Amino acid sequence: MIEDKNPQRTSLSDLGEFGLIKHLTKNFEINQSSTLKGIGDDAAVLDFKDKKAVISTDLLIEGVHFDLAYMPLKHLGYKSVVVNVSDIYAMNAKPTQITVSVAVSNRFPLEALEELFDGITLAAKEYNVDVIGGDTTSSQKGLIISITAIGEADEAELTYRNGAKSNDLLVVTGDLGAAYMGLQVLEREKQVFQVNPNNQPDLDAYTYIIERQLKPEARKDIRTLLHALEIKPTSMIDISDGLSSEIIHLCKQSGIGCNLYEEKLPLDPQLISVCEEFNIDSTTVAINGGEDYELLFTISMNDFDKIKGNPNFTVIGHMVEESDGIHLITRANTKIPLKARGWNALDN
Ligand SMILES: [Mg+2]
Repeated sequence: MIEDKNPQRTSLSDLGEFGLIKHLTKNFEINQSSTLKGIGDDAAVLDFKDKKAVISTDLLIEGVHFDLAYMPLKHLGYKSVVVNVSDIYAMNAKPTQITVSVAVSNRFPLEALEELFDGITLAAKEYNVDVIGGDTTSSQKGLIISITAIGEADEAELTYRNGAKSNDLLVVTGDLGAAYMGLQVLEREKQVFQVNPNNQPDLDAYTYIIERQLKPEARKDIRTLLHALEIKPTSMIDISDGLSSEIIHLCKQSGIGCNLYEEKLPLDPQLISVCEEFNIDSTTVAINGGEDYELLFTISMNDFDKIKGNPNFTVIGHMVEESDGIHLITRANTKIPLKARGWNALDN
C-alpha cells in the first residue's frame, strides 16, 4: 500500500559508515542538561547528579515486530522511540536520552534510512530526548532497530511492578484494544491490495484505530498529572503485550491477586464498531490485544477521590489476596481466571 514516493535511490555504500552516520545524525539536538557528551566520541557522558538513572532497551525486527508493507518508515522510526520511552514512563521516570542502532540490508537506499531517521528525530523532539549515540551496520536480510532509552527520577518517585497491595485500585489510562484492531484492518487491506493493487482502500472509518497502530504515543502526561494530584502509584507497568499479561506481571511480582471488571474496560466507540464488523469480541481484544502503550497502575484506595471523574483514568478493578487468584468478572457476573494470551514475539 505504501508507494515508493521517493524515486531517488542512493546506495548506502556510496557514503561509507562514517559519512552515513554524520548524514543521519545531523538534525539531532542536545537539550538535556544531563547530557555532557552526545554523539562524536567513543562514548556518551551523562550526569544525573542526585537523580537515579533508568535504562530500558527494545529490539524491533522486520517481519517479527513490523511489516513494511503497511508501516511507513517514518512511522516506524517514530514508533520505535515511543515504545522505548513508554517503558521509562512506566517507571514513573522522565526519559532524557536514547541511543539508536540500526542494521539494514542493501535493499534499503539512503532515502529509506532518511525517512526512518525523520521519524526518530520527530519523536525525539516530541518526547524531549537527546539522541546520544548508536550504531549503523549492515544486515543480511531486512531491517533491525535497537533503541535504548535512558531516563531520570528521584528515588522516591520510582514505581516498580512489585509494590501493589491487596485492596489497591487497578487503574488504566486512555482506552484499550484499538492498536490491535488497527493492525487487523491493515492486515485485511494488505490482503486486498495483494489481490488487486489498483484497489485504493477507504480507511476513513478506521482512522483512530489505525493511528493507534501506526503512530502510537507514550503517556508522557501521566507522570506530571499524578504528581499534580499528589498520587504515587503503588505499582506500574506499560501496556505493550496486552492488559491481561500486564495485570499478571503486576500480580505475580507483587504477590497478590486481582479482580478485573469487564464492564469497566474503556473502549473507544470506533473500536466497538470495528469489532462488530470483524465479529470479534471487544472484551477479548481489550484484554489480549497489545501495543496500546497506555499505563496500568495501582493506587491506594485512599487516593480514589483524587482521580474520580478524571477522563484520563479508568478504575478497572481492584487487587485481592494472592490466594483469591486473578480473575475477570464478566458483565453476567461470572468469574473467569485471567490468562496471559498477550501478543508474544516468540510465537511467530
Ligand atoms: Mg514495558
